[in-house]
Amino acid sequence: MITPSGPAAHAVDLVKRYGDRIAVDHLTFEIAPGQCFGLLGPNGAGKSTTMRMLCCLTSRDGGALSVLGLDPETHPRQLKQRLGVVAQDINLDLELTVRENLLVYARYFGIPRAAAHARADELLAFVQLTDRAEDAVERLSGGMQRRLQIARALINDPELVLLDEPTTGLDPQARRVVWERLRELRERGVTLILSTHYMDEAEQLCDRIVIVDEGHIIRDGTPQDLIRNEVGREILALRVDSMLRDHILGQVPPESILDDAEGRLELACENAEVLHESLRAAGVTAELIGVRRASLEDVFLRITGRRLRDD
Ligand code: ADP
Repeated sequence: MITPSGPAAHAVDLVKRYGDRIAVDHLTFEIAPGQCFGLLGPNGAGKSTTMRMLCCLTSRDGGALSVLGLDPETHPRQLKQRLGVVAQDINLDLELTVRENLLVYARYFGIPRAAAHARADELLAFVQLTDRAEDAVERLSGGMQRRLQIARALINDPELVLLDEPTTGLDPQARRVVWERLRELRERGVTLILSTHYMDEAEQLCDRIVIVDEGHIIRDGTPQDLIRNEVGREILALRVDSMLRDHILGQVPPESILDDAEGRLELACENAEVLHESLRAAGVTAELIGVRRASLEDVFLRITGRRLRDD
C-alpha cells in the first residue's frame, strides 16, 4: 500500500445542487491519511452526496476536491483503482457464491486469476466467512452480507475506504464484528471515511468527526473534544414537576439544560454528584433518575436539535 504524502482527501468550498436545492453547501475539510473520519448529520444533511463526490459517483457543481491527490472528476479510473467503497445498500450478486462475488470484482480491477484467488481467501478469513465461501450470498444473514461487502471493497488493497452507514440494520453482535474489522484496517494505515447514524459507532471508531446539517459543516473535532466542548462530562437526570422545574431552571445556567420534556430534566455538568448536592442545598429535592457520562449522542442532539428529519 502506498501512503499518500499529502492529505487523503481535501475539499475546498465543495458544492452540489439538485435543481434549486443545495445538497452540499461550500464544504471545506481535510482528511489526514490513516485517519478514521466520521461524517455525521441528520437525514438530508448531505452526507451521501459528499461520499458520492469523493468516490467519483457524482460530479460537483463548485469548489475543488482532491482524493489521494487526484481529482475524482478528471481521474476517476486511476482513483477507483485505489479506493474501496461500501455502499449503503447491499449491492452484492445474490445468486453467486460468496467467493464468486469477490472473484468477479477482482476481474473488474484486472487482478490476475491466481492472485485473485489468494486475495479472496485472505479476505474471507479477514471477515470470518471462510466456511461460507461456497454458499450463495442470498443464504447469508444481513451481518454476513455486510462483511462480504467490506471484503469486496478491499479486493484491490485500497488506500482509502468509504463506508456509507456500514452497520445500519445489523444486530449488536454483527455491528461489533464490523467495528473490529474497521479498527484493524485503521491499524494497518488504511484511511476510512465513515458515515453513520449511530453515535456510539462514531465515538468508538472515529479519530475525527465532522457534523453536517443542511449541507454545512456545523462542528469539527475529535469525539472527546466535541463532547467536552459542547456538553461537558456528566449528565444528571431528574424527575421534576413544573414547580421544581422552574426552581431548578432558576439555579442553573441555561446552557446546561440538555433535555426538558415530560417531567424529566437532563442537566449537563462536570460532576453530577456535586450539582445534585448543590441543588439539594438550595432546597431542590427532585427525584434522581440517574447519572451518566456525556456522549456524542448528546452533542448531536444538542446541535442538530430534537425535531424529526424525514427529509
Ligand atoms: P444524507 O446522506 O445526509 O441523508 P443526502 O446527501 O442523501 O443526505 O441528501 C442531501 C439533500 O440532497 C437532500 O435534501 C436530498 O433530498 C437531496 N438529494 C440527494 N440526492 C438527490 C438526487 N439524486 N436528486 C435530487 N435530490 C437529491
